[in-house]
Amino acid sequence: MVTYAYRCPQDGAFDLRAPMGQAPQSAACPTCEDEAPRVFLAPRLGSGRADLVRAIDRTKASADRPEVVSRLPASRRRGTPVTSNPLHRKLPRP
Ligand SMILES: [Zn+2]
Repeated sequence: MVTYAYRCPQDGAFDLRAPMGQAPQSAACPTCEDEAPRVFLAPRLGSGRADLVRAIDRTKASADRPEVVSRLPASRRRGTPVTSNPLHRKLPRP
């Protein structure tokens, strides 16, 4: 079943569920029972995956409103490892 959109000239838009590809070109308005023509809308993509919608919204928002940070991110690099072997002192230093 797929949701199809119709628009009554008097009462506005309403939805009708019908099997895919079998939507009538007009349907009876639930309020006034006049024939209302079918309207075509943009597909409702992304309405089912909340995490995907959040990621898309965050990506779009970062295009004109980038996140502002007040300091550098914490470095994940570890310092030079310290050795206690006395022979390592004789090695050439960079
Ligand atoms: Zn109507």
